[in-house]
Amino acid sequence: ASPRGGDSDQRPAKKLHGDVGVVVEHYNSRPDVGVVQRLDSPIIGLKNFNNWVKSVLITRFAHPVLAASRNRSINGNNSYRGRGREGSTGVGKVLDMGCGKGGDMTKWAKAKVKELIGVDIAAVSVDQARSRWESLRGPKYVASFAALDCYTQPLTRAFGPDKLGIDPIYDHHNDSQLNGEPFDVVSMQFCMHYAFETREKAQCMLDNVSRYLRRGGVFIGTIPNAELLLEHLDALPPNSTDLTFGNSVYKITFDEREEKPLYGHKYLFFLRDAVENVPEYVVNWDNFVKMAAEYDLVPVYKEEFHQVFDEHQEHPEFGPLMVRMKVVDSNGESAMDEDQWEAANIYIAFAFEKR
Ligand code: SAM
Repeated sequence: ASPRGGDSDQRPAKKLHGDVGVVVEHYNSRPDVGVVQRLDSPIIGLKNFNNWVKSVLITRFAHPVLAASRNRSINGNNSYRGRGREGSTGVGKVLDMGCGKGGDMTKWAKAKVKELIGVDIAAVSVDQARSRWESLRGPKYVASFAALDCYTQPLTRAFGPDKLGIDPIYDHHNDSQLNGEPFDVVSMQFCMHYAFETREKAQCMLDNVSRYLRRGGVFIGTIPNAELLLEHLDALPPNSTDLTFGNSVYKITFDEREEKPLYGHKYLFFLRDAVENVPEYVVNWDNFVKMAAEYDLVPVYKEEFHQVFDEHQEHPEFGPLMVRMKVVDSNGESAMDEDQWEAANIYIAFAFEKR
């Protein structure tokens, strides 16, 4: 394997049709504008805030030592343990599923990750993620990237046994041929909801999450806030045929008002300067938790983004980080206008632990 790992020839071979084709085409065609142009974005405050939330999740849950103490304060117990890594100062091995253009490469460097595997269905984005990792300054962690539809294909399709490890006591699956180290963390940022098109896709996604994650390892992510989306849908005037709501920053359009299936509950999502009417699916939280339990994943955290802000704004580490990441200025003035702040709460952050 090349030192960069996962290779271009691992791309999904077949042409993608239907919704997944639209998703891939959309993400592949969005240019990686670089840091300077990103500063000009009309929603830079919201983008910074989303990045800050991801940093909080990574620091608080993916870092074994910090996570051990911080989770104690949330749950009031000692349930979380970074098994075998209490003395270490960094995150071990991470799977960034739906890594996109590698927006979290620097965050993982700051978390002192040892090894990262990045996968995404959009091959152009994967190349950009690899470039971003290559251009990281300072000591670099080991990383491998591959293009893969993680919701229909097993990770083994892109990575061999040297990359994927399995928890020795994880005996649900007979994967004894895998001999690499299992992951300490699986991260799925702003991407898991695309799997909820069908039960099969959601199951394939969860299998990819859990199969190579060690026990005690964490699964963190950010997804749309289903409860809030459905509240907005139900609040639309009864006679309205256009099932759209939103503001100047985001718009969501549902096809159907009454039917609320657990899978394939579709809407079109528009986010200014980021996402242009891409089909997405509602993630029913209770159903997700029930499914995750079948893969030994137990929820330890779930909050709306507004709550993540409220919980951490006074925090000695995450408060100042908010200033450094330009979510607020040094006077505490928000970089988001009202509409961006409202759009921020379309999302929730979560963490699961593998038991
Ligand atoms: N995680 C990155 C971040 O936070 O910057 C990218 C988020 S972007 C909003 C959503 C990503 O999900 C896109 O890069 C898209 O290609 C990816 N995605 C959608 N369906 C996928 C699938 N079936 N397998 C892997 N990645 C997928």
